Amino acid sequence: LQTPPPKSSLMNILWDIQRKRRYIAPDDMTKIANEFRISRIELEGIISFYHFFHRSHAGNYTIYLNNGIISKHGNYAAVKRAFEKELDISCGETTTDKMFGLFETSCIGLSDQETSALINFHAFTDLTPAKVKNILGQLRKGEMPETLTGIPKNNIQYTPKKDKTVFFKPYTAGVGLKKLKKLSPDQLIELVKKSKLSGRGGAFFPTGMKWEFCKNNSSDQKFIICNADEGEPGTFKDRVLMNKYPGLMIEGMAMAAYAVGANFGYVYLRAEYYYLKDKIEKEIKNFRSKGLLGKNILGIAGFDFDIVVHLGAGAYVCGEETALISSIEGKRGEPSTKEYFPVERGLFGKPTIINNVETLCAVPRILSMSLAKYLKIGTEATKGTKLISVSGDCKKPGIYEIEWGMKLKQFLKLIKAKNPYMILFNGYAGECLSSADFDREISGENLLAEHVQFKWDDPIEYARKMSAIGLRSGGSFMVFNDQRDLMPIFENITNFFVSESCGICAPCRTGNFLLSKKLKKIMLCHAEKSDLEDLEKWSSIIKQSSRCGLGKTSTNYLLSAMLKFPQEFNKCLLARSDFNKSFEFEKVTQDYDTIINEIEKVHG
Ligand code: SF4
Repeated sequence: LQTPPPKSSLMNILWDIQRKRRYIAPDDMTKIANEFRISRIELEGIISFYHFFHRSHAGNYTIYLNNGIISKHGNYAAVKRAFEKELDISCGETTTDKMFGLFETSCIGLSDQETSALINFHAFTDLTPAKVKNILGQLRKGEMPETLTGIPKNNIQYTPKKDKTVFFKPYTAGVGLKKLKKLSPDQLIELVKKSKLSGRGGAFFPTGMKWEFCKNNSSDQKFIICNADEGEPGTFKDRVLMNKYPGLMIEGMAMAAYAVGANFGYVYLRAEYYYLKDKIEKEIKNFRSKGLLGKNILGIAGFDFDIVVHLGAGAYVCGEETALISSIEGKRGEPSTKEYFPVERGLFGKPTIINNVETLCAVPRILSMSLAKYLKIGTEATKGTKLISVSGDCKKPGIYEIEWGMKLKQFLKLIKAKNPYMILFNGYAGECLSSADFDREISGENLLAEHVQFKWDDPIEYARKMSAIGLRSGGSFMVFNDQRDLMPIFENITNFFVSESCGICAPCRTGNFLLSKKLKKIMLCHAEKSDLEDLEKWSSIIKQSSRCGLGKTSTNYLLSAMLKFPQEFNKCLLARSDFNKSFEFEKVTQDYDTIINEIEKVHG
């Protein structure tokens, strides 16, 4: 059986050292660089790329507080104050006794249970200042974080009727996989093509077609990667799938391997889900012991496949296929130019399938329920059901399995949204929806035809067109009610992209930084109309000229918000004109007290 190439163990070694010492020391770096025959500079470049690797002590208890927008709308400010007060340090610092390190991080896949934090990568949810005090007290007494908390709750809020449920129903390991005994790889690919299954991480590339491309490649070595780097803020469905059905994901990977002729696979698990690693590894062992992984699986000669779990280290961009590949190869997780698709040249230069957790879990379900039954669910373009992670201003945040085709207004009713004003659909890389969209359905209907006509030089027109067609969801659904100030939400999103840009190309690196400054100027009511025009122009440039999906989607929210919520931007200009008027006093009098009073009136 094939074993993982040695270079892919670099990240694991860095993790081992980080966990043991709480940082990666210069001596460690020299040793590792020698062992992997790379320069020390290159290694430092790799270490500094990932948020969770530290080059100075990060505390025996390393705390990461979530600063995503849903957390901020919860107890974030009070919880942060409580941590800082109890530990007598600020975020980004370590206590002098090296006992605690306190850091902030963006979304950790717990938007339904905010405010949340990770302590040594164990999840603490629904935090309050009192809880913080109690947790720190227990840790000081010598308790370990894992004894104070468990795997976060699944929070499954809704599934359709029994005959329309695809994911959340009883599962027995191997049921779907055993169907392969009666299917050739070509027949399996044909079945997946007929199901119209497409990439559920958000890219929606047809899965069967991807598998076919890979199968047609004659290479003697191929890989399967399960993309479990669920980093899009607001999404946490894959966390629930992996917690509830790790076997389903493993079966999906094995099926992909059977279809394309691969014999080794990686689960690229985001470090924020470290607490799921043991569970997944246990299930892999269980599968091996049942002959569902290993050599001649199910007695099928030549069907050899095994899996390892590979831990990420905190880099949103690693959700991008080529960045993820680089990360497994033990490099900085930087996206590469799209000279080749991974199915042509992927991991270690070999054809590679990368599918998201939900996509892979769907395949064994389709096989076990029958294609005919599956095709009866959903819409013409999007068959089956979709898992949606709901958070924000609604009574029932959590996971929803809905049949494709549900109207947005029905869905808002289902989740008991309270006075919804703006929906951030598909996470920070998604679009902002207003009440004008509530009659649209959640599906992929009309989408492909519209895409053909789309002109990249006119994104506002694109957003207008999108309003007439289905809403294809990657899985993140954040609701903001009419009491929320939208500008700080936009600022949080832009700052996220500034921090997560890998920096390799200028439009994304510099453009998002400049957007963040411009947004700040608008928020402070210092902007003029031309600043809004700049926002639109720059967003369009970033979208068109960035190298990878991160940059290309980083301004979707802003372009759609400017289209759907112009009043939010204009009111800042209006406030500025009030501010200007106030200075007419200056012409009449040089009474500075009066001017200062006027400024205070405008700015509170
Ligand atoms: Fe890196 Fe951003 Fe360029 Fe993607 S678009 S390669 S994240 S700088």
